[in-house]
Amino acid sequence: MAREPILQPPMESPEEDRDLRPQRMRDMVGQREVYERLQIAITSAVKRGEPLGHILFDGPPGLGKTTFATCIPRDLGASCQIASGATLKAPKDLIPYLTNAEERSILFIDEIHRMQKAVEEFLYPAMEDFRIDLTLGDGVNARTINMSLKPFTLIGATTRTGLLSAPLRDRFQMQQHLDFYSLEELAEIVRRNSKKLQVSITDESAAEIAARSRGTPRLANNRLRWVRDYAITKADGRITLTVARDALVMLGVDQLGLDPQDRKYLITIARVFEGGPVGVEAVAHTMNVAPDTLVDETEPFLLRSELVIRTPRGRKLTPKGFDHLGLSPPEGGGDGDQGLLFS
Ligand code: ADP
Repeated sequence: MAREPILQPPMESPEEDRDLRPQRMRDMVGQREVYERLQIAITSAVKRGEPLGHILFDGPPGLGKTTFATCIPRDLGASCQIASGATLKAPKDLIPYLTNAEERSILFIDEIHRMQKAVEEFLYPAMEDFRIDLTLGDGVNARTINMSLKPFTLIGATTRTGLLSAPLRDRFQMQQHLDFYSLEELAEIVRRNSKKLQVSITDESAAEIAARSRGTPRLANNRLRWVRDYAITKADGRITLTVARDALVMLGVDQLGLDPQDRKYLITIARVFEGGPVGVEAVAHTMNVAPDTLVDETEPFLLRSELVIRTPRGRKLTPKGFDHLGLSPPEGGGDGDQGLLFS
């Protein structure tokens, strides 16, 4: 039987996330193409008796990067260490992970784009030749020793491949992009997880929660938990369509699944910046949130839903975006030079 790998939970994940996180790749819903490609690479690595090539996952938050990264070692029967790019500030922070890595084990670095440059460069020979160069002492007494590592697999996850340097990106044998999930896939996740949470749910309620989850399994799970709590507190514990709708309205989640922060972003562009174009920093500043939060978390789904578009001059609300807010677009196409319309 495969050895149960040692897994440290990723720091960012809420505790409860672990209850619903699939344990094996075959338990994951959707992302079939990524799944098939990984299966081929895993099968081949096992047959060859060699480590799996390094893999990079990219895509918006909550789509399954960590889930894939933690299922792969279980499928391989390998051990796994988890690090976060944000906490790797100097090569010395990475050394214990590299020297502890067992043969054919997995080292998962979440938010790999946040690693410091020096750490990134230190990682290159580790990824390529399974060795690191350690400098001992300093000044004239400094000497470099070359230390070999056990062949391991690096799995990186990032919300933004654009921020990764080309030399780092190219050292990953596979780069897998995770896209938003279909309504059917999310409904399936909701149905499966309602069983795990031991709550009864109708198919139409599962579809309703799926439709209001912005294509994201993590949100589908969060919304399912909230609807369950609401059903227990305000109804007889069963999730009917009325219960699901009432619970989601109370959460401020609208028909498209947008939450108050998403709408605030759209409203800020519509009202303060007359529909745009406007730089994301200006929007972030007005909303009092970090630009990174908007770029990583808020914008991907809004862009994909064509409520907003990116132009060389900044973000711009589309007619669909105005329509969703119940507003009319500024006359003349709303290129921001038309004067105040919502005064
Ligand atoms: P990311 O690392 O991309 O931010 P996670 O892998 O942490 O996202 O996914 C968030 C949660 O969504 C997981 O805990 C899991 O419960 C659920 N999830 C993600 N992908 C899937 C999937 N393919 N099938 C079922 N549940 C999933």
